[in-house]
Amino acid sequence: MATIGILSLQGGFAAHQRILSALGHDTLLIKTPEQLLDIEGLVLPGGESSTQLKLIHHAKLFAPLIDYCQSERPVFGTCAGLILLARDVRSPQQESLGQLDVVVERNAWGRQRQSFEARSEKMRWPMLFIRAPKIVSTGEHVEWVDTYQHEPVIVRQGNIFGATFHPELTDDMSIHQMIFGCG
Ligand code: GLN
Repeated sequence: MATIGILSLQGGFAAHQRILSALGHDTLLIKTPEQLLDIEGLVLPGGESSTQLKLIHHAKLFAPLIDYCQSERPVFGTCAGLILLARDVRSPQQESLGQLDVVVERNAWGRQRQSFEARSEKMRWPMLFIRAPKIVSTGEHVEWVDTYQHEPVIVRQGNIFGATFHPELTDDMSIHQMIFGCG
């Protein structure tokens, strides 16, 4: 069992908390830099990435979040969280933490259909896409953990994971278990 932090400035942090608790973890809702010292893993939830970015600056969390990503402990960004982790954000362009060597295009899955469910191609994970970003390119150290329509939808670079969809809104806990353990 470990204490996993969930960035809780805006968006879908409660659903991550439900899954992590069901896996047997303690959780800490992160709102201040000091709290990052007490956690063994971190979730950046979905929501509205531009709003989250403003709140991250307001809470003076921008540099501490980068430091945390570089600490080797697991970090998982879903949807807006992935956008925050990306090296480069497009449509529109936006500042990001730059900790995952991917380029993302905001709302790119959502333009076809606002919100939809599907199964991933390798592990058959249930996936819920909500105005989801597309990963339009990945650096050489980024592993494609799973795909949809032959495009990466969950990726990993060392300790950093990012998903374009919302595993926390399904009943399947296996992605959180893969990243944070327990269960
Ligand atoms: N479209 C949102 C953004 O750009 C992300 C959507 C989500 O997290 N479900 O921030």
